[in-house]
Amino acid sequence: MKQTLDWQIASIRDIRPETVKVKSFTLTLPAWMRHRAGQHYDIRLTAEDGYQTQRSYSIASEPERAGEVDITVERINDGEVSTYLHDVLIPGDRIEVRGPIGGYFVWEAMMTEPLLLIAGGSGIVPLMSMIRHRAAAGAKNPTSLLYSSRNFEDVIYYNELEKLRAANNGADGLQIFHTLTRSQPPEWMGYARRIDQDMLREVAQPLGKKVKVYICGPTLLVEAAANTLVKIGVPSNQIKTERFGPTGG
Ligand SMILES: Cc1cc2nc3c(=O)[nH]c(=O)nc-3n(C[C@H](O)[C@H](O)[C@H](O)COP(=O)(O)OP(=O)(O)OC[C@H]3O[C@@H](n4cnc5c(N)ncnc54)[C@H](O)[C@@H]3O)c2cc1C
Repeated sequence: MKQTLDWQIASIRDIRPETVKVKSFTLTLPAWMRHRAGQHYDIRLTAEDGYQTQRSYSIASEPERAGEVDITVERINDGEVSTYLHDVLIPGDRIEVRGPIGGYFVWEAMMTEPLLLIAGGSGIVPLMSMIRHRAAAGAKNPTSLLYSSRNFEDVIYYNELEKLRAANNGADGLQIFHTLTRSQPPEWMGYARRIDQDMLREVAQPLGKKVKVYICGPTLLVEAAANTLVKIGVPSNQIKTERFGPTGG
């Protein structure tokens, strides 16, 4: 049955920088509903003259956290909504939201197959919800994240990802691979190029034939990664994709 979600007024409880261009916002929701990792909220802005515009933002937090959600937003220089969220909003402000939305790009900890998560830039956000959900639920399915960023300073959630990896020392099956495509710090041990066939083979093959794949980010990265995975033998019906293009209406 198709569910109709009402708009509600969320309060901004907290705003914190993740990188120079990216901030996370904690929204307190009067009509909170448990989400599935990978879902998003729509945010609607209304100007004084009645002009309205809305955009989608993935939920970054785990569904186990009741009453509130985190979203993580990259500031697009000439963007209408992301600049408002970054430059105007302060804690205590109220904002119109609708969600959780989406039933396709979702992962639940009860799914026990090996998991491959591939992100480009802010495409990490819904995958982070999956990683946080997996940790909160104590899931042990082999899971690898391959995360492409331009520079080290652009990596979102770096410290939290390192903590999650270190906490279990690999025993809970979480592996994290970064690739930095533009510049790398001295003694960088990760990949240093765009995601390609050799990289995908190295990361995907240890996960076996039943691997479930979620890819999120800019359209070109998503399509290239999905096509290459199919080429190296991952069945296309095990690959789910989400593209973060413009969504204005
Ligand atoms: C399901 C879904 C989930 C999303 N989740 C997130 C999220 O978690 N975090 C996040 O930061 N964004 C996310 N997005 C993208 C977000 O919805 C907006 O498109 C983005 O914030 C830009 O909106 P804007 O109003 O600032 O820019 P706009 O005014 O819409 O666009 C301004 C200019 O920037 C270009 N542009 C628009 N979007 C992007 C983009 N993503 N990257 C580069 N250039 C762009 C446009 O082509 C235009 O030239 C998601 C999109 C979808 C469809």
